[in-house]
Amino acid sequence: MTLSAELETKKKQVLSEIFGYENFRDGQEEVVDALLSNVSTLAVMPTGAGKSLCYQIPALVKGGMTIVVSPLLALMEDQVASLKLSGVSAESISSNHDREENVATWRRAAAGEISLLYMAPERLMTERMLSAIARLPITLIAIDEAHCMSQWGPAFRPDYAELGRLADMFPDTPIAAMTATADEATRKDIEIQLFRKKHKTLVSGFDRPNISLAVETKNSWKNQLISFVENYEGASGIVYCLSRKKTEEVAELLNSEGIKALPYHAGLSSEKRNDHQNRFITESGIVMSATVAFGMGIDKPDVRFVAHTDLPGSMEAYYQEIGRAGRDGAPAGTLLLFGANDIRMRRQFIEQEDSDDEIKMRGHRRLDMLVSYCEATSCRRQTLLKYFGEDSKPCGNCDICDNPIELDDGTELALLVTGAIYETGERFGQAHIIEVLRGSNSEKITKFRHNSLDCHGSGRDLAKSQWQSLIRQMVAGNYLEIDIAGYGGLHITAKGADLGRAIGTFMYRPEAARAETKPKKSKRAGAKFLKAIPISEQDEELLQGLKKLRLKLAQDRNVPAFVIFPDKTLIEMAIHRPTNREEFTEIKGVGQKKLVDFADLFIDVVLDT
Ligand code: ADP
Ligand code: ZN
Repeated sequence: MTLSAELETKKKQVLSEIFGYENFRDGQEEVVDALLSNVSTLAVMPTGAGKSLCYQIPALVKGGMTIVVSPLLALMEDQVASLKLSGVSAESISSNHDREENVATWRRAAAGEISLLYMAPERLMTERMLSAIARLPITLIAIDEAHCMSQWGPAFRPDYAELGRLADMFPDTPIAAMTATADEATRKDIEIQLFRKKHKTLVSGFDRPNISLAVETKNSWKNQLISFVENYEGASGIVYCLSRKKTEEVAELLNSEGIKALPYHAGLSSEKRNDHQNRFITESGIVMSATVAFGMGIDKPDVRFVAHTDLPGSMEAYYQEIGRAGRDGAPAGTLLLFGANDIRMRRQFIEQEDSDDEIKMRGHRRLDMLVSYCEATSCRRQTLLKYFGEDSKPCGNCDICDNPIELDDGTELALLVTGAIYETGERFGQAHIIEVLRGSNSEKITKFRHNSLDCHGSGRDLAKSQWQSLIRQMVAGNYLEIDIAGYGGLHITAKGADLGRAIGTFMYRPEAARAETKPKKSKRAGAKFLKAIPISEQDEELLQGLKKLRLKLAQDRNVPAFVIFPDKTLIEMAIHRPTNREEFTEIKGVGQKKLVDFADLFIDVVLDT
């Protein structure tokens, strides 16, 4: 798409003068250009790619008012604060403000004094608000977290479903739909709901190469977690847990190891939640042990690791959660711990959901994909990116690339499993099948007379944990399936039955089975983390001083520290040591407004250190 010379110039000017950046990042400019050409656009970009800029720049180039729909009040306030510090007239109308404030904001909007107006969907989609904005010259509508519109998506919100009406109300206004997670079905759904005429869908690379990926089978999760977190001394991180209780347990555990940790979940009072969140954002070296309630809308760029003590609900959820690490582009590590029990619980959650069968089926399929990711036998990033429709080469920054897995032919073992399942009538779950294989004489075994079957004791040579892993890999490889609606009984699929007819082979990773009994201490991520610190001791001292000033400025303004300047900008300052405004403006992330407001203060710190 070619823009007029005038728009080209203006676009670059806004990028550098307001936001302080010389170049667009991958994927940004295409979105900006489409919107400046008045073409509605669905932009699918990974977390941290810089989605906000994609609609903020067209908003400012076009002039007039842009409406931004955002589902999260906290995120909205941070964005507004950040824009204001850059000298942009941005406001929000939300339940964060009292009525008078909202009315005053509305008056200014109606008078044409506001460039970007942020609103939650339930606010915007009231008849009153809609008829009020219908009278204003709206130049652009931006919808953040657009995947919430689709019930195929992983985070459907009914109030988002209404947003399609905007397209009918404003047929000539381009719409920007932004999301970090949208599979094919979700994308199509968003397009249908939101776009009435010519539009574009731009999907930019999903890869976050600075994030290392690792998955371990859970055996003693506490030890596994601690040896991972110990790699990141003094860094901020997030540990995701399935239950509220577990977040408390993890916080206690880490604290007892001398690692500063705070719990975060919906059961805490809102004061406590806010307090913990603020400490996480402003202090360094805090580990948040949290349920998924935490993280949406937290734009803390220097989160150095994300661990999962339990399996997330889907690939999308996992990708989004690990995506909160390393937004500053510096190396960050992740660890996912998972066990057979996690898979069962996740299946139950899906079954308990109040949704129709097709949605449930999709939920199970999503989970299947995540499980196969966990059981992957080749580069994890390849598996992850493949899921989002991207082909890639082995990454060299995941546990499997670091320690390639040798696959064994497990066909004979698999035949023992299918034999035991077949002979017991395809009714029993993994635990019982393993008892049969290992020749147990438990009450349940004798009650069903399974001790008299041929297969009883046929698999004595392997430990229980080895069978568990093998069966999981058979499920991941679609040789077996779990009766999800029933009691978790194992069935043999057509592919599994073929093995018995000498069609195909079953390759598996014996090492995964062994890892379950003998945990390996992982130092990989840590070693990378240490190497990653790009800064000398003297620069580090200056950096601390700059951070102190930033914290004070942030506290005075009641905004998170990164809204003043992201870490990356401070690191650049510490290394390049600008001593006058001219040098200061060369630093990435310094726009004109921030130059005027902050340059002298930071220069003083540079001169004094
Ligand atoms: P997303 O919403 O995609 O997760 P954000 O919009 O929050 O990402 O941007 C992430 C970070 O990247 C922010 O700190 C932002 O200032 C920075 N950023 C965005 N665009 C650029 C750019 N062109 N050059 C440098 N930094 C950028
Ligand atoms: Zn890899």
